[in-house]
Amino acid sequence: MRDLQADLAICEAATPGPIQMKPCACGRCNQFLLSITHADGRFDPENAKFIVEAREGWPEAIQRALKAEAEVVTLTNQLYNCGKAVFERDQARQERDNAEDKVDRLEDELRMLQDALNQRYQP
Ligand SMILES: [Zn+2]
Repeated sequence: MRDLQADLAICEAATPGPIQMKPCACGRCNQFLLSITHADGRFDPENAKFIVEAREGWPEAIQRALKAEAEVVTLTNQLYNCGKAVFERDQARQERDNAEDKVDRLEDELRMLQDALNQRYQP
């Protein structure tokens, strides 16, 4: 696995972009020069290293970025589902508390009615 911090340093050491492709001036071949190429076809070491390392570094960085993006989607969905479950749990607890309060009120009312009946029909 490549060190992306080191790869980024290689990118930052190279000539700032964009780099242009220029057709060879010979008029006979189908080759290109880059805007960072010297007149004799050579590159400064920073640019040569950038091109060489980019061939392997860019695909790996893209693959890792795509994997990381997919993982972000997965984790975002898990977080959403977790938050939804917590909301539903809290809602169920509130409904249970409301039901318990209602049972308490009905039990109090039943006791009052039983007391009233006992007083009225006591022998
Ligand atoms: Zn040429």
